[in-house]
Amino acid sequence: MQDYPKYLKSLRNSDLDKKIEETYSLLKNCQICPRKCRVNRLNNEKGFCKVGLKPIVCSYMPHHGEEPPISGAKGSGTIFFSYCNLRCAYCQNYQFSQKGEGQETSPEELSGFMLSLQKMGCHNINLVTPTHCMPQILKALKMAAEKGLNIPLVYNTSGYELPGIIRILDGIVDIYLTDMRYADNKNSIKYSQAPEYPDYNQESVKEMYRQVGESQFGDDGVIKKGLIIRHLVLPQDICGSDKIMRFISEKISKKVYISLMSQYQPYYQAYKYKEISRRINKTEYQNAIDCLNKYGLENGWIQDSQGLERFAGVNIKRNV
Ligand code: SF4
Repeated sequence: MQDYPKYLKSLRNSDLDKKIEETYSLLKNCQICPRKCRVNRLNNEKGFCKVGLKPIVCSYMPHHGEEPPISGAKGSGTIFFSYCNLRCAYCQNYQFSQKGEGQETSPEELSGFMLSLQKMGCHNINLVTPTHCMPQILKALKMAAEKGLNIPLVYNTSGYELPGIIRILDGIVDIYLTDMRYADNKNSIKYSQAPEYPDYNQESVKEMYRQVGESQFGDDGVIKKGLIIRHLVLPQDICGSDKIMRFISEKISKKVYISLMSQYQPYYQAYKYKEISRRINKTEYQNAIDCLNKYGLENGWIQDSQGLERFAGVNIKRNV
């Protein structure tokens, strides 16, 4: 019997009910993410992420621009949650992730979005920046699963996570799509107001991998379970590619899928920092590719002149 989507088993054995109860209780003194604001979100108090009891959803739609095994031919059923627990100076989605564009949404409405996306033929439900709304998402997931939701769940996160909270998602999430943004605490504070991002991020990624292991794909090439790590290359190696690739190689797996992103642009308030107020150059991107090679990482995608290019095996060459 296939072991995905995992949440169906958790629905059957009532684990999902327990997780909903456990996570809602965390909202009373909110410690869902490393910010630990301790506000009572059940009373609609708001902390750093500016979301009270009801999630705010900016949009939901089939998305064709994710990595190929996430989007597949029919699109990834993406739900964009507004606000975020990071404050990246260069955020490209700042209208909703920092300014909060979107609509307050009940768990009932959210479950309806999930079912609509499945009906549209999407390969999966892709929760973008979900952590600050995780209890409400679990409640919506239960409602949707009871009405027939049966496609894999993608947890698409900036990676500023408490490992203990990720542990709660064991048995729920099929695919983790996580950023590894910084290896240096000073940079995560300066550019994303995120103290100790590297430690929280690395420990959480270990937990993600423990849960889902090596990626598995269907005959259609679409991912059914696994971990994909996104690494956005920033100017002047502010992202710490060498340390991050070394961590992945030594502490996760050489086979894990890595998406090495070159699309950085100085959006939002990046102009305030001279060093990030430009795009990356070819040398900076090539240096990040060299780190993949240096640590023997075997799977993923790099950007070349043809677009997103799949690499498999070591000694990755870029077609520039
Ligand atoms: S989820 Fe929001 S309120 Fe809760 S700890 Fe994180 S930032 Fe603070």
